[in-house]
Amino acid sequence: MFEAIGTETHEEVLFGADRGSGLRTIIAIHDTSLGPALGGTRFYPYVDEEAALRDVLRLAKGMTLKSAAAGLNLGGGKAVIIGDPATLWSEGLIRSYGRVIDSLGGRYVTAEDVGTTVEDMVLISKETPWVSGLPLEEGGSGDPSPATARGVMAALRSIGERLWGSDDLAGRRVAVQGVGKVGMDLVRRLAEIGAETIVADPNTVAVAFAVEMYGSKAVPLDEIYDIECDVFSPCALGAVLNDGTIPRLRCSAIAGSANNQLAVDRDVERIVDRGILYAPDFVVNAGGVINISVEADGYALERAAVMVDRIYDNLTSVFETADSEGVDPQTAAMRFAKRRIDEAGDQRFRTRPGQT
Ligand code: NAD
Repeated sequence: MFEAIGTETHEEVLFGADRGSGLRTIIAIHDTSLGPALGGTRFYPYVDEEAALRDVLRLAKGMTLKSAAAGLNLGGGKAVIIGDPATLWSEGLIRSYGRVIDSLGGRYVTAEDVGTTVEDMVLISKETPWVSGLPLEEGGSGDPSPATARGVMAALRSIGERLWGSDDLAGRRVAVQGVGKVGMDLVRRLAEIGAETIVADPNTVAVAFAVEMYGSKAVPLDEIYDIECDVFSPCALGAVLNDGTIPRLRCSAIAGSANNQLAVDRDVERIVDRGILYAPDFVVNAGGVINISVEADGYALERAAVMVDRIYDNLTSVFETADSEGVDPQTAAMRFAKRRIDEAGDQRFRTRPGQT
């Protein structure tokens, strides 16, 4: 167990259980050097506890990188509840989970993720203040997806400036894989500024909506990789950039909201070798966490928008660092995040809310 935790240098992993409701949860705090660990709660029927532990450790580390690269004073953490929410969910379970979070005294702040809902966050807020992503009417920041899409747009503008000397994306072709909450809002924003979109999604209703409302061109699921376009934007699944898909891409750049787009780290080299500009996913898709971070000081949409737009500058610095240090953008972004953490000094374990 300690080996699993130790190799990734997580600070703390808490196992919580409540026999009455059937709650089994693991909360992983990866790093609090920059502030309290923020990350969502995934409610998922893992095949076994080892799989749940592996996932929560991986996701918590990803949150540390994302928040640090976004310039936020937040650390990284994540939580999982083991089980199928369709059968295991009860108010009692969610509230006892809220009390597990409360026991950490603010070192971990939760939010929505796969399998949990905004209603769950409201229930958790009855047990602990260390919850974010509450509805707008409860003083929260609401659905993070529009902010995430706004952040992807900021990233696309940075790419435009770098590749074509202009952040005006009018007339550019963007292939969007997945028109869910983020992808659809991205397509809407691109249509508004006169960019062309090509979409693929198994949800035929969503595809028809994009075609009708935003003039998108629809292609079958697997063809999205072969589309000749300026930017390929993965907004559905992880691991879509792999040895099978990278040789097929006919784009100048890749930037999308999906988490963990690279199947394995070295896939970034395949992308660079093909002369394609890669915008690291954790820099591009930080709009949601930036939006949630604004909740801590009282949520204001305008302030959140200004902060999300800084993804333009963050990505521009990543590209500049990649140039000056002679590394790929993924390595540059990781170095940038790690440097911020190192500069904060070793604050781990000492961080308390309000001291960030
Ligand atoms: P979503 O579930 O609303 O949308 C995902 C869409 O992808 C769905 O419409 C689904 O039908 C489609 N899809 C599934 N398989 C596909 C395939 N093979 N090809 C094309 N489309 C496929 O999710 P979302 O909230 O829009 O998030 C999209 C991605 O961005 C996810 O990877 C998520 O982890 C990531 N992300 C989201 C946010 C956010 O604020 N919502 C923030 C950061 C990262």
